[in-house]
Amino acid sequence: SIMPATLAAVSNGAKRGILFKGGVHLEHLGSLKTVAFDKTGTLTNGKPVVTDFIVREGVNVDETLAILAGIESQSNHPLAVAITNYAKNIGITVKRNLQIEDVPGHGIRAFSDTGELLVGNPRFVGKELAEEFHQGIALALADEGKTVVFMKDDQGIIAAAALKDTLRDEAVQAIKELKSAGIFTVMLTGDNEKTAAAIAKEAGIDSYVAECLPEMKVVHLKKLLAEYKTVGMVGDGINDAPALATATSGFAMGEGTDVALETADIVLMQNDLTRISYAIKLSRKMQRIVK
Ligand code: ADP
Ligand code: MG
Repeated sequence: SIMPATLAAVSNGAKRGILFKGGVHLEHLGSLKTVAFDKTGTLTNGKPVVTDFIVREGVNVDETLAILAGIESQSNHPLAVAITNYAKNIGITVKRNLQIEDVPGHGIRAFSDTGELLVGNPRFVGKELAEEFHQGIALALADEGKTVVFMKDDQGIIAAAALKDTLRDEAVQAIKELKSAGIFTVMLTGDNEKTAAAIAKEAGIDSYVAECLPEMKVVHLKKLLAEYKTVGMVGDGINDAPALATATSGFAMGEGTDVALETADIVLMQNDLTRISYAIKLSRKMQRIVK
């Protein structure tokens, strides 16, 4: 049976856009020692925009962008949507004429008459090739916190698009509040090392794991669980659902995917990250009343 103090606190949370799927989830929060965050769509708005597009010497910029956008237009990944919109906005006709295959956590493989095309992160297209492209110019963009998507054909890298996503307005404040409540903060992202480092620094996060494939998010959560005994996880994507299920307390962003919303214990209805520290403090206060 639910304690009156829990009931009052759950309804207090609801008024502030924190949906607890049961009083027990509120009770767990007070003992959290660490909280892990997904990056894209959780710490950031999840709506990246293309800031730079560079191609191999001797190839036509518009034709290359048309091919890239033709591939990305077949994916609903936020990066893919951004690249497709960028091409359309500058007047490029986007044709979905190539067959594609999704490679989760890496990018897309496409099949053209002239051979295979790879679209995705440095690891997917080859780290050395990515580093050498235009004497490292593409990876220098990653130091600014941009995500760089490469396209490779059988002759090497043909193009790179840099995309910038922005931190949610309240992300810095939310992390600061958690840290002052004594909570260790971690970011888990599929993005590359340089981009992850830049975003983690911008957000003020204690620690991060880059190039974290979907299944690795669970592995890292289990490590945090072993070390801290309790761990919170905040995410928005299908990719985050297994980690949300593994965490002591799983938080989904209200605008997250259905799977994330279903799997989470707590939903941040207004996508406001500062509600996490609020909820933890609410739980701690409630525990003092009950005891
Ligand atoms: P995150 O954890 O940042 O939400 P994902 O696991 O969805 O990222 O993807 C990890 C990385 O794989 C992305 O940062 C990107 O480099 C690459 N990637 C995934 N899907 C695509 C795509 N459709 N186009 C280009 N790159 C992609
Ligand atoms: Mg995400």
